[in-house]
Amino acid sequence: MKKAVITVDVELDRGGGIEGLKKLDELLEKYTGFTLLVTPETLKKAPDIVKSWEDENEIGLHIHPAELGFDEDLFDIYSYEEQRKMFEESLNIFSKFLDSKITSFRPGRWRFHENIYPIMKEFRMTHSSSRYPRPGSDNEPHGVEDIIEHSPTIWTPEPLSDVVGKKKKQKKGFEDILEIPVSIHSVRKFGVVFNAALCNNVDYPLIYIASKSLSHLEYQMFTFHSFNLLDKKVEDRIKNFIGYLNRGREITELSKITV
Ligand SMILES: [Zn+2]
Repeated sequence: MKKAVITVDVELDRGGGIEGLKKLDELLEKYTGFTLLVTPETLKKAPDIVKSWEDENEIGLHIHPAELGFDEDLFDIYSYEEQRKMFEESLNIFSKFLDSKITSFRPGRWRFHENIYPIMKEFRMTHSSSRYPRPGSDNEPHGVEDIIEHSPTIWTPEPLSDVVGKKKKQKKGFEDILEIPVSIHSVRKFGVVFNAALCNNVDYPLIYIASKSLSHLEYQMFTFHSFNLLDKKVEDRIKNFIGYLNRGREITELSKITV
């Protein structure tokens, strides 16, 4: 059966607070098998909620340096030692509250740095989703330095410029884009949308790019933030899409993906 991974960045500081967390909790009463990438601050502030998820979902690590006392919230600008310290401190917090072994990671704001892999390896972590999909790159799950890396959306073999700037008329091959809760319009506005989502001025936070029929892809990865659920319109889209994935696919956790 074809697979899908659903990841959620779970955080309090960048909007939504505890209300976003409660919305996610409601969603997790209906669906399971998610990969919840949680910041250590969130875990400290809402340990009972997060702990209630761990039996039926995977809990992974999400790092926003600003939460850990660093000035800039950009993981990639720090030294190896500082980055390593962020992992160490975070994992210590996780081990205090949770039984799960934490093996998956994503940096806040997709601030990838190549140090991520050796640091993960040291802490016996195995699955990274640290890179935003890049046109022409290997966006399907693949091994790098003993870690499995995978991007959060569909493989995009065509350059992004082929997607952006198109009129509302759908390009051949994009017909199935209607199966998902974004329109070609949001894809056209990709850069703007992505930045808007980051600064939490969220008008259209669901970004999904596909240049092939989605239903034919062996593997899909869908991602959103807990606070996205606070916008009713967006919440409905997220639910619709999760329903769509559940109908045709086995929902699996990030750490269960093999290459
Ligand atoms: Zn985040």
